[in-house]
Amino acid sequence: MFAFIINVIIILIVMKVFFKFMYPKPPKAFFAQAGDDTSLRRCAHCGHELATYRGILLVDGVEVTKKTDDTPDTANELFFCNDEHRQGFFAERGEKG
Ligand SMILES: [Zn+2]
Repeated sequence: MFAFIINVIIILIVMKVFFKFMYPKPPKAFFAQAGDDTSLRRCAHCGHELATYRGILLVDGVEVTKKTDDTPDTANELFFCNDEHRQGFFAERGEKG
């Protein structure tokens, strides 16, 4: 019985070390910083939902890092996961983004 328990404990320790090595914590820059817009938006190209600060937000064709209160609600907003999806979106429409 003692050997069994010792084995389980050793396996648990090895697994914990293994998982720490296999799945390291993402760098701090990947997490939301104070003041980042964490509201969810849907990518206009692939339809994937992403927090606003992780993607590219275009208001009237101009890239903004954060939507300000004085931005009119009627402004034409487009959101993309990344630059590739932005280019893909405009390429589909034959426009240049
Ligand atoms: Zn996308």
